[in-house]
Amino acid sequence: YKISMKKVATRFAPSPTGFLHVGGLRTALYNYLFAKKMGGSCVLRIEDTDRTRFVENAQENLIESLKWAGVNFDEGPSIGGDKGPYIQSERFELYKKYSDQLISDGYAYYAFDTSEELDAMRKRLQEQKKDPKYVREEMRNSLTLPESEWKELLASGEKFVVRLKIPYEDIKFSDIIRGDVTINGHDIDDQVLLKSDGFPTYHLANVVDDYLMGITHVIRGEEWLPSTPKHVLLYDYLGWSRPEFAHLPLLLNPDKSKLSKRT
Ligand code: GLU
Repeated sequence: YKISMKKVATRFAPSPTGFLHVGGLRTALYNYLFAKKMGGSCVLRIEDTDRTRFVENAQENLIESLKWAGVNFDEGPSIGGDKGPYIQSERFELYKKYSDQLISDGYAYYAFDTSEELDAMRKRLQEQKKDPKYVREEMRNSLTLPESEWKELLASGEKFVVRLKIPYEDIKFSDIIRGDVTINGHDIDDQVLLKSDGFPTYHLANVVDDYLMGITHVIRGEEWLPSTPKHVLLYDYLGWSRPEFAHLPLLLNPDKSKLSKRT
């Protein structure tokens, strides 16, 4: 494994949706110990853009548990650092700028579909035994509507989301643990980047912050591997160099069943 000359920076980026469980603690420890070993720094970032999953006091709890476990972050909420704020809801204005840049460069688009239209689309796909993924060619968005029409919709305050235009080709990246990974764009949904309430989704906020915070190594659980093709596209489209990725295998019971969060 080749080591670059850049100072290592890792991050642990929990969402305040509950208590810290053992899988999360393991991820935090890997990030922390790797950064320390490499003479780098480890950032704590709270990813709270999904307001529907927000749990009262979860953030305080996470911070307490991490402190208890001896994970001493170099930067984070209440620790400080020059790349803050370290809570995404306090970085709100940042994300739209990048979403706008992606749209003007042709990598993302406005979508005006109502939830009824989306439900009908999914139902149709289900009946045809196809993946319930957004069919951009058939829906109401800035790729299918005449420019004058979608501009009019925007101007009139019509609700919209911004979606990433996933290319219909192989998307490749390499992972320190998994090696080379290839996923075809046909198998990936046109990810929503900005929601109709103006909040970014995890994907946009996560990539923008990893970049702005100078993160060199993204070390996280394997459950995030399916998100990584979307993330590498965002890095490429925004003209940023990709960080290294390391997806840690899930923690399993001896019989290979998933570990319960409660035991
Ligand atoms: N906020 C995500 C989580 O809850 C972070 C995933 C990542 O590390 O990219 O785990």
